[in-house]
Amino acid sequence: MTSTLDGWIRNFVDGTFVEPDPQRGFDQIDPATGRVLAQVHEADQVLVDRAVTSARRALDNGWADTPVRERTALLRRAADRIEERFEEFVAAEMADTGKPITQARELDVARALTNFRTFADVAAAAGQESFMTDLAGGRQALNYAVRKPLGVVAVIVPWNLPLLLLTWKVAPALACGNAVVVKPSEETPATATLLAEVLAEVGLPPGVYNVVHGFGGNSAGEYLTTHPGIDGVTFTGSSATGSHVMKTVAPRVRPVSFELGGKNAAIVFDDVDLDEALTGLTKSVFTNTGQVCLCTERVYVHRSIFDDVAAGLAERAQGLRLGDPNSESTTTGPLISQAHRDKVLSFFKMAEQSGANVLTGGGIPDLGSKLAFGSWIEPTLWTGLTNDDPVLREEIFGPVAALVPFDTEEEAIALANDTKYGLAAAVWTNDLRRGHRVAQRMRVGISWVNTWFTRELRSPFGGVGLSGIGREGGESSLHFYTEPTNVCVAL
Ligand code: NAD
Repeated sequence: MTSTLDGWIRNFVDGTFVEPDPQRGFDQIDPATGRVLAQVHEADQVLVDRAVTSARRALDNGWADTPVRERTALLRRAADRIEERFEEFVAAEMADTGKPITQARELDVARALTNFRTFADVAAAAGQESFMTDLAGGRQALNYAVRKPLGVVAVIVPWNLPLLLLTWKVAPALACGNAVVVKPSEETPATATLLAEVLAEVGLPPGVYNVVHGFGGNSAGEYLTTHPGIDGVTFTGSSATGSHVMKTVAPRVRPVSFELGGKNAAIVFDDVDLDEALTGLTKSVFTNTGQVCLCTERVYVHRSIFDDVAAGLAERAQGLRLGDPNSESTTTGPLISQAHRDKVLSFFKMAEQSGANVLTGGGIPDLGSKLAFGSWIEPTLWTGLTNDDPVLREEIFGPVAALVPFDTEEEAIALANDTKYGLAAAVWTNDLRRGHRVAQRMRVGISWVNTWFTRELRSPFGGVGLSGIGREGGESSLHFYTEPTNVCVAL
């Protein structure tokens, strides 16, 4: 069973790869070189309907009632099989995103395994609350909840960490006995498709995992979220798209889980170990070329160490190695597409118009003829801006940050919270009390002290404000992917 024959990336419906329609192909482009690598079959409305129908059938044919131990065993076999086919997943992720091989191995594909194993553990260990209720006459009633699968879940994910974000949702959804129809980003169709092979190989029944390819509006994304057979939508992507999807789901009153954009702050106090803070900031600003929802784009630094942090971070940015993704020494890949680079460049222009001082970067690097048509961009840092400037207000989603000085703790907190987003924050300090105090006052879903991107998958994850609705992770995932029925028994 293969997903990519004759240069086509196929849809996967009811346990089978669908023969592509030559009239409905779109390009899979390597962002590092600009080369067209394959054709992706854009699913039409009929195919999306078939996917949803097959998911429903799989539930009715017994998947929803499969014992938890069978479902979790299957998840573990899926993790083992991804491990056996590890380098294929690495190659597929690199083809889609152009990201460096070390990152694809150590972050993206590694986390896919962990997602499957963690949610197998979480589902296996899950218990139920029960309550005794006093009745008249000294009797009592026992209350407990039976958790049932949500049903057919639409899973819509973006391009920045495609396999990681997909499996973060698919693993708990399957562990809870749901059937899924996934719509990967049009930019990154490969790993979701390869995962279909793996899940079929380990014995997942037909219809439990379906993949439909295409775009958002008036394409597979919208066909899926407006389909009456969908019981819930879990979505990761931009805040604007999330808002739109919410409207399309509202008429049928279905649950949604939204993991959306961020405009994340770091606060650097004057008591830090400078070297440790600079290492952390370099990661938080530049990982995945700044294309992580959790990346830092605003860095507030105590005025007394501002110049040292600015100079140190600029030096580290200049030390990043852009280039051939297959080289083990490459640290930084391209942006996902030319269109996204145009967007990031438009922020470079805005920074200039706001009178920014460019500490480093600010343009397109020359990486030689082989990479000349890739979507490369220079890691870029600015000073001389304030929270009123557009580059500090909107998510840019590139390898960029603005550094702004502060004088007091209160001022730093106010600056960091001055945003309509609320996903993540990082506080850098050697004062333990201050670390806790400031981290707790961040208006975000996750607040780190002296670290960044450290993820405990059993903890709740999500955002406030424009950064999302709901939480996933650990028990929170089990809650989203199930519906409880309260059983009340008079004893
Ligand atoms: P996007 O919103 O453009 O697209 C996300 C997905 O939604 C894609 O699969 C796309 O095809 C689909 N889509 C677009 N329009 C749709 C519609 N009308 N109906 C249904 N589906 C539709 O986002 P993107 O550019 O792919 O990803 C980058 C964004 O994702 C950034 O804002 C980033 O912060 C966010 N993100 C958030 C998290 C998080 O956990 N909070 C994680 C990663 C990325």
